[in-house]
Amino acid sequence: MSRVLIIGAGGVARVVAHKCAQVPEVFAEICIASRTEGKCKAIAAELPRPVRTAQVDADNTAEMVKLIKTEKPDLVLNVALPYQDLAIMDACLETGVDYLDTANYEPPDNAKFEYKWQWAYQDRFKNAGRMALLGSGFDPGVTNVFCAYALKHHFDQIDTVDIIDCNAGDHGLPFATNFNPEINIREVTAKGRYYHDGQWVETEPLSEHKPFDFPAGIGEREIYLMYHEELESLSKNIPGVKTMRFWMTFSQNYLTHLRVLENVGMTGIEPVEFQGQKIIPLQFLKALLPDPASLAARTKGKTCIGCLINGTWQGKPRRYFVYNVCVHEECYKECNSQAISYTTGVPAMIGAKMMLTGKWRGTGVFNMEQLDPDPFMEALNKHGLPWHEQFD
Ligand code: NDP
Repeated sequence: MSRVLIIGAGGVARVVAHKCAQVPEVFAEICIASRTEGKCKAIAAELPRPVRTAQVDADNTAEMVKLIKTEKPDLVLNVALPYQDLAIMDACLETGVDYLDTANYEPPDNAKFEYKWQWAYQDRFKNAGRMALLGSGFDPGVTNVFCAYALKHHFDQIDTVDIIDCNAGDHGLPFATNFNPEINIREVTAKGRYYHDGQWVETEPLSEHKPFDFPAGIGEREIYLMYHEELESLSKNIPGVKTMRFWMTFSQNYLTHLRVLENVGMTGIEPVEFQGQKIIPLQFLKALLPDPASLAARTKGKTCIGCLINGTWQGKPRRYFVYNVCVHEECYKECNSQAISYTTGVPAMIGAKMMLTGKWRGTGVFNMEQLDPDPFMEALNKHGLPWHEQFD
C-alpha cells in the first residue's frame, strides 16, 4: 500500500491517474500536482475514488521538495515535460524518494535527446539508496522491455533491432500533434540518427523512409527513420547488437504542414523579437495548436508499436516481431484519452507498480531493459496493453 505523487496534468497524466486509481491495492493514496491545479482537479473529478491535488512549479526544486515533504509519497511519477526531469530528480534526492519518468531530460534551449544528464545522477541515487527509473512509457519504455524479453527468451544473439511506431488513427483535423506539440515537433524536425557497427550514422530529417506492412488490418504505411532516445541505452545494453533504428509513420498531410511550418520559421526554438517582446516561435505555435488531450474524443483507429528483431537462436537465423495494437476509441471509453497518451500512461503506472511492489528494485538510475522483463510483460497483458508475437 503506497502513496504516489503524479507531476503533470496533461494527456499522459490523465491516463496515469486513471490507471493508478484502478489498482488501489498498490496505489493506496494518489496526489496529482501540476502547474495549473485546475487541470489536476478536472482529472480528479473523473476518477472512481478521491485523490488529492496541488499546484507546483516543478522547475523549482524547492517547491517540489516542499510538496514532497507535505505529501510524503513513496514514489514521484513525473509525467510533466522533459524540461522538469532534473529539478524533480534533485527534489527526490533531497527528500529520499524514488523517481520515475517517461522521457529523458532536454535542455529547453537545445533540442537534443541524451541520457547523459540523467545518467550523471547514478552515484547520487546509489549513495542515497534510492531508485530512478527512466523512460517508462511506450517508446521509450515498453520497446526497451520488448528487447530485454527477446534477448531473455528468444535469441542467443540479437543483430538488428528496428523499433517501429505507427499511429494509424485519424482525428479529422488538418494538423495536430498527438502529444505535447513542442516536444513532438522538436523530435520530428531533428536530424535522424541510427546505430550501426558501433557508430552513430546521421541522416537528414525524415529523409529515409520505406513501406512497412502492419498487422491487425492496418496494412501498408510509410515509415520514416528518426532518432529516438531508447536507441542510446539499448545500444549499450544489448550485447553485440550491430544495427538499431527507430521508425515512425506520418501521413503526407502531416508532413506537408510540418514542411510549411518549418520553412516559415514557426518551428524554431531561438527567441525572436515581436512587438517589443521576445517570443519563441515553437512555443507560440504550441499555443495555436490543439491541446493533444482535446483530440481524445475525436480520434478513431489504431496504433501499432513494436520491435522487429533479427538475430540467431540455437544456431539458426530468427526474425521476431513483438508488438501491441491499441484502439483510440477504446482508450477514450476507459480513460477519456487517445491511444498515444494511453500507451504512455499505462507503462508509467506499471513501472511504478513494479517498483512499489518490489518486483523491480535497485539503487541508482535504471533504463527499462536493465530490469527483469517478465513481470512487466505480464502486467502489460493485465492492464490494457496486450502484446503479440510473430516468428519467421
Ligand atoms: P502535455 O503537454 O499534455 O502535459 C504536460 C503537463 O505538464 C501539463 O499539465 C503541464 O502543465 C505540466 N507542466 C509543464 N511544465 C510544468 C512545470 N514547470 N511544473 C509543473 N507542471 C508542468 O504532455 P503529455 O501529457 O502529452 O506528455 C507528458 C510527458 O510524456 C512528456 O514528457 C512527453 O515527452 C512524454 N511522452 C512519452 C512517451 C513515451 O512513449 N515514452 C510518449 C508520449 C509522451 P500546464 O497544463 O499548466 O501546461
